[in-house]
Amino acid sequence: MSQLREIRPNLWICESSSSKIQVRSVLVVGEKRAVVWDTLTQPADVRALAAVIEDKPYYLIYSHADWDHVWGTAGFADGRLGLIGHAECRLRFGDDVPRILQRMKLAELGKWESVRLVPPNLTFTSALSLDLGGITLELYHTPGHTLDSIVGWIPAWGVLLGGDAIETPLPVVNHAKLVEDWLKALESWQRVATLSRSIPSHGSLEGRESLDQTVAYLRALAGDRQFNLPRKLENFYRETHQKNLIVVDGGLDLNE
Ligand SMILES: [Zn+2]
Repeated sequence: MSQLREIRPNLWICESSSSKIQVRSVLVVGEKRAVVWDTLTQPADVRALAAVIEDKPYYLIYSHADWDHVWGTAGFADGRLGLIGHAECRLRFGDDVPRILQRMKLAELGKWESVRLVPPNLTFTSALSLDLGGITLELYHTPGHTLDSIVGWIPAWGVLLGGDAIETPLPVVNHAKLVEDWLKALESWQRVATLSRSIPSHGSLEGRESLDQTVAYLRALAGDRQFNLPRKLENFYRETHQKNLIVVDGGLDLNE
């Protein structure tokens, strides 16, 4: 099941909780073209989004190749302008992406049969700008949560699409050596005065809260360990926090 709503004119979010995990994708509609940021966990999740696009030319974008962001692609008809991801994201489709699908198919028989893995066919390494007609979406490589993570910036609206590079109550850290540059990249977004809203794939939609909280968390993780976390953390985030500490303390690089 997923829920679709327009949070400002031509900016839609679609939230799915069909797989125990809450995840959000975003639709940006320009005068000439539209863009869908992430395809959620399975094709049924994105059918409502596909209906809003109707016959407008559109791109799909993967914020990164983790399963909860890329498994719903078959919910869109063919004929899109392209499927965009970082070059590292494409590589993962020949590596951990099919492996995790196989593992989940075995763990939950019948649940994932409609998933079709579709790798990006338009890749970039540093930055890419998309003219949607009246609106521009800029994509920037932001390695941190994963090597292939990107963020999206819509200057005209002051909106940052964070994928899992920003998350509340806290982000998932997989690579100790990427934390410093990840933090620097997010701190530079914090200095953008026109940035009024950050939209993470998981977590708070309030203003810049997700950006600010992620920066505060990563700063504490890399520094004094004075975390300002909610008293009540869901199990998933309590465990993630403990794992993040182990990753950073051990200098670990978690690859599937
Ligand atoms: Zn995610």
